[in-house]
Amino acid sequence: MDTEYPSFVETLRAGQKPEFPAHAKTIQYARELDAHDKLSHLRGNFNIPTKGSLRKRALDGAVAGETKEPKAHNGVSPVTKPNCTTNGNLKNDEASIYFVGNSLGAQPKCIRQYIDAHLETWASIGVNGHFTSFDNSPLAYWQDMAAACAAQSVDLVGAKSASEIIYMNTLTVNLHLMMASFYRPTAKRHKIIAEWKPFPSDSYAIASQLHWHGLTPATSLIEIHPPHPNPTSSSSLTLPTSHILATIDAHADSTALLLLPGIQYYTGQLFDIARITQHARARGIVVGWDLAHAVGNVELELHAWGVDFAVWCTYKYLNAGPGAVGGVFVHGRHHALLRGGGGGGDVAGGGVNGEGEGDGMGLGYRHRLAGWYGADKAVRFEMEKVFWPAEGAAGWQVSNPSVVDLACVRATLGMFERVGMRALRDKAVLLTGYLEWLLLGLLADGMGEGKDGEAAFRIITPGNPVERGSQLSLLLRGGLLEKVSQELADGGVVVDVRKPDVIRVAPVPMYCRFEDVWGFIMVFKRALDKCT
Ligand SMILES: *Cc1c(COP(=O)(O)O)cnc(C)c1O
Repeated sequence: MDTEYPSFVETLRAGQKPEFPAHAKTIQYARELDAHDKLSHLRGNFNIPTKGSLRKRALDGAVAGETKEPKAHNGVSPVTKPNCTTNGNLKNDEASIYFVGNSLGAQPKCIRQYIDAHLETWASIGVNGHFTSFDNSPLAYWQDMAAACAAQSVDLVGAKSASEIIYMNTLTVNLHLMMASFYRPTAKRHKIIAEWKPFPSDSYAIASQLHWHGLTPATSLIEIHPPHPNPTSSSSLTLPTSHILATIDAHADSTALLLLPGIQYYTGQLFDIARITQHARARGIVVGWDLAHAVGNVELELHAWGVDFAVWCTYKYLNAGPGAVGGVFVHGRHHALLRGGGGGGDVAGGGVNGEGEGDGMGLGYRHRLAGWYGADKAVRFEMEKVFWPAEGAAGWQVSNPSVVDLACVRATLGMFERVGMRALRDKAVLLTGYLEWLLLGLLADGMGEGKDGEAAFRIITPGNPVERGSQLSLLLRGGLLEKVSQELADGGVVVDVRKPDVIRVAPVPMYCRFEDVWGFIMVFKRALDKCT
């Protein structure tokens, strides 16, 4: 066992399946994996809903995880006690199996301290908090909070420097703001290439942007569909890279923007961001990525990959809380500021990749929808009438941001900074790999098979660990979803249910354990047993 954990990680990172021993189906084995997990202490830093607290119907002042936990020592909380009995039943006061960090991450305990610091600052110095922070505060002064969060995210997204990142607004709003700046259709290049099943908000944003420019999806939206949709094949809903590249080639001359999700929310497929970006950019297409399901989940190198822009939310894998401020990446090549206008390169009038050709605005910077917080900070409070952007991604800000929100983002980014994506991804590939192995075991045992031998479920997420993050999407046989998801909920399992037939299961490495994976399988197995 001592040597198995690292070699499993290596095997999975190389895109292969490890050989788990037969006794890997036991809770003892899951606990051994937990014992060898160098990140197991992180779980103690989260308030994970308990089976009982999930049924709470009124506030009672108790926070699951804060009341019964042993006190932290040296800032590191001890690992919480095991929550499964050996038959896989959860007790009421024990942590649920929270496998929904891809939808809303669990609450970091330190968030309360950050919000308290903000409230005390505001109460004590009022408006001066815009320019002053306390030496012993975890927060920056309010004007600088978004930039401070950017500085914490350089490794998280693989920026060249903090100037390529800003935190502002929320994801869909940022998608619109980025498209206002980067989707500049011309008569020749007017198409947007997207995938066949974007998160609805992205679909609405894309269609409304087309309409805003007087275009329609019928003439200007290219959807990349799975090449061989086949209801009985597990890989039939994913998009092979070669197929994506071929679609780009087919519309290379008429496309202004390629907009894809880093990880597809439904299938959990992780795209080859580097290769796709390079391919599209070489054909004069601007490339944007929606990283809602990728950030804090997989390793990213946005600058090196040449991505033009990217947007993400902070409440999924990043655990900053519902609706917290979103993040934006703008590649340094788009930062040029030329006082007095200027027409070349990436600034308006020239335009990168051919887009925006001859719009002749002569602004001296890439056009954007502007507001006072995007203005040069040196003159932000001087109420200049003419907008001049701050350097870098910060120059795309519009309004003064919610500091309560940014306090949450700062708290959670601090955890990611300390742990690093490399270590998180190491654990994630094994956690997800173990889940997959146990699920395939259920299928091999014929668990829940229909009368005609039809399997109870199939995994529609790619089998190759290199092509997925911490999520496996299970497509259940027709008619099972409602009953099975009720059984899962009754068993203390929290997963995301997508009608008509999919459950998305996401054991995230920050706070989920191998024992939780084992516990999930026990509850899922019982559910299939009962419902089929
Ligand atoms: C979660 C998610 C959203 C949600 O958008 P908000 O503007 O944060 O409400 C949008 N797009 C994708 C791909 C998502 O995963």
